Amino acid sequence: MADIIQLLPDHVANQIAAGEVVQRPASVVKELLENAIDAKATSITLIIKDAGKTLVQVTDNGSGMSITDARLSFERHATSKIKSAEDLFNLHTKGFRGEALASIAAIAHVELKTKTENSEIGTHLTIEGSKVTSQDPAVVPKGTTISVKNLFYNIPARRNFLKSNPVETRHIIDEFHRVALAHPSVAFQMLHNGSDVFNLPASNSRQRIVNIFGSKTNEKLVPVSEETEIIKIEGFVMKPEYSKKSRGEQFFFVNDRFIKSPYLHHAVSSAFEGLMKNDVHPGYFLFLEVDPHSIDINIHPTKTEIKFDDEHAIYAMLRATVKHSLGQFNIAPVLDFERDKGFDTPYEYSKKSPTAPSIEIDSDFNPFKEKAKQGNIKFPFKREQNQSWESLYVGLKDGFDAAKPLEDQTSNPSTSLGINSFEMEFESEEVTGNLFENKETETGQVTFQLQNKYIVSPLKNGMMIVHQNLAHQRILYEELLKNITVKEAVSQQLLFPLQLHFSKPDVEIIEKVREQLEHTGFIFSELKEETVEISGIPVLILESHVVNLLNQLVHDIKEDVPDSGFSQNDMLAKSMAASMAIKTGVLLNREEREHLINQLFACKEPTVSPTNKPVFTTLEMSDLDKKFM
Ligand code: ADP
Ligand code: MG
Repeated sequence: MADIIQLLPDHVANQIAAGEVVQRPASVVKELLENAIDAKATSITLIIKDAGKTLVQVTDNGSGMSITDARLSFERHATSKIKSAEDLFNLHTKGFRGEALASIAAIAHVELKTKTENSEIGTHLTIEGSKVTSQDPAVVPKGTTISVKNLFYNIPARRNFLKSNPVETRHIIDEFHRVALAHPSVAFQMLHNGSDVFNLPASNSRQRIVNIFGSKTNEKLVPVSEETEIIKIEGFVMKPEYSKKSRGEQFFFVNDRFIKSPYLHHAVSSAFEGLMKNDVHPGYFLFLEVDPHSIDINIHPTKTEIKFDDEHAIYAMLRATVKHSLGQFNIAPVLDFERDKGFDTPYEYSKKSPTAPSIEIDSDFNPFKEKAKQGNIKFPFKREQNQSWESLYVGLKDGFDAAKPLEDQTSNPSTSLGINSFEMEFESEEVTGNLFENKETETGQVTFQLQNKYIVSPLKNGMMIVHQNLAHQRILYEELLKNITVKEAVSQQLLFPLQLHFSKPDVEIIEKVREQLEHTGFIFSELKEETVEISGIPVLILESHVVNLLNQLVHDIKEDVPDSGFSQNDMLAKSMAASMAIKTGVLLNREEREHLINQLFACKEPTVSPTNKPVFTTLEMSDLDKKFM
């Protein structure tokens, strides 16, 4: 019998291999985006037409390829990423098989334009069904553009197998999300049939999530962070109340690579046990980092599954870390040690309605009455609804001259610490009936201040220790953020406009955030060259603090990621809150202390400061008891 075995021609072998690598347009998107990341691009644009069936094009500003490499990149097993099998165990790149471009070129019309940093001229290459049809020098920018047209043009069966455009687009967006989430410091853009789908500036991980999934997402995220010898875990889980019936946003990344792992999913789900109903799924964005030697990513051709050496340990750590974060951010179980079922607010008073003023008021003593009635003074603190503005200033400290503007009174000893408006705020609670007060008379409990730094408050079963500065930062931060985003101006007019001088670039920075600052209560009468003129400031700050606040703000903006709307609002609120918050070392009277605590627990996330530090801690009786055994 004659010999019958023959080697398959390359293009046939490539077509067969392509079946594994390229199932649909989304597979092409994934491979091209990952190549761009591997080429160290900092900006990547994805353009698709007809759900990728007509065109998938990726442009990056990465390393580019030399003429020879451009040609070689389409050969099977041609890769610059590993040299020996050993390298497989120390992978820091997405690709390594050297199959993607060869496979894609076997089943589509491909066009490549590329140039390296150092070469004067780039390369333009076209390939159809594995055959190079043209190669010319080309004037192109540094980086690479690969266009993949008419996918499966030569395999009609595969082409017919593709799903509807919306379905294929969904798959593409999924791949895009995965790569974009794993690389927040890279800017991404995506266009479909000529219109913008995503425009993601370089940012951090939280901002990237918010930019992709919408600004509402921010408040749903609970940070997760842990580092041990074998694994580093960072990221976010969604608060249990935002769990979805359908499997929503669930992302695991291992060493910046998206992976699927039912096993790790189980670890996360079980950390949510008891916090959500049975038929819903938690959302999460978890970034795990492990030693590349300790995983095998080679077990699946499209590389979304991996195997860990120490799966059980990772499961346990992941579960514990998520549980810990949920506990930290879930105020109820932490505060009330013996809470009833269904009782999910920290204090009993949360169920009470505000009570009528319990002290005698001299209703004629109201130095600010006129001003308050004019309605342009408003305190950025949450208030009970049925409280009247007239009662706001009753009980002001002696020596406070209402006829003078606030900012002139910094020499007054009781206000020299820059908290005069803060104090007034507390005073107002005297007449509106502080809920704490009732509690105190009922139970005889009191708060006190420790070292002018912490507020100690008894709880049913122990005590709570609140960091006054961080607590106030949290309160101000949430309020400022709300003002900035819902555009609610809160101003005090200055008698004489403030003229401040900054460098030109700094004035430009202020100009950029002018609108947001105005939402917090600033009124800028002039902003030009090196001068900033201010005719109104937020009610909660002193005129004498404005310079510091703006300097700090400019500094913080310079440090922060530029041009992300979200990041800017958030950063602005953080920076201002830090500048304005009551400092450590400031003596607080009883009303102030209690008001601060009331305000804190009216916050959305009272447990952490805007900069993610714990705001308070609790000590249980049993902890104390142990000390006396
Ligand atoms: P792999 O990524 O597994 O190495 P590919 O077929 O995806 O295989 O790519 C082959 C080679 O082509 C890569 O190893 C890389 O050297 C080069 N290459 C592909 N895309 C790019 C790009 N966008 N920029 C620079 N080089 C690229
Ligand atoms: Mg690749």
